[in-house]
Amino acid sequence: MFDIIKKIWKTKTVTKTELLTEAPERFRGKPIFGSNECTGCQACTTACPAKAITFQQNDDAITVSLSYTTCIFCGICAEVCETNAIHITNEYRLATKNKNELTVNKQATFAKLLTAGKEV
Ligand code: SF4
Ligand code: SF4
Repeated sequence: MFDIIKKIWKTKTVTKTELLTEAPERFRGKPIFGSNECTGCQACTTACPAKAITFQQNDDAITVSLSYTTCIFCGICAEVCETNAIHITNEYRLATKNKNELTVNKQATFAKLLTAGKEV
């Protein structure tokens, strides 16, 4: 009780804690990179209508980055990914205090590209 009064005194606000609602299982929420291998094929980069997925190539590695700041949750990236490296979740909450958390990365190496028979 004392903690509540202290908080109201400090923040000058009275808030009611409400449980956040889980979206239905089949709700199309944010895409995430899973554990499956990324071949660096760039199909997701090309198909993304919001240009939320970018592709960076360094000496021996390829990084595919997905930004939730522009993603519109359309699900196309997951549809075109042949290895299911991206999949759609039912998560819709993106609030964070750290902007860096709004970008997720997936590594694909040249070795994987060669195994997949693709050329960079
Ligand atoms: S869900 Fe749609 S907008 Fe978001 S990264 Fe995938 S293709 Fe782009
Ligand atoms: S995440 Fe999938 S579609 Fe995108 S580059 Fe990797 S393998 Fe290709």
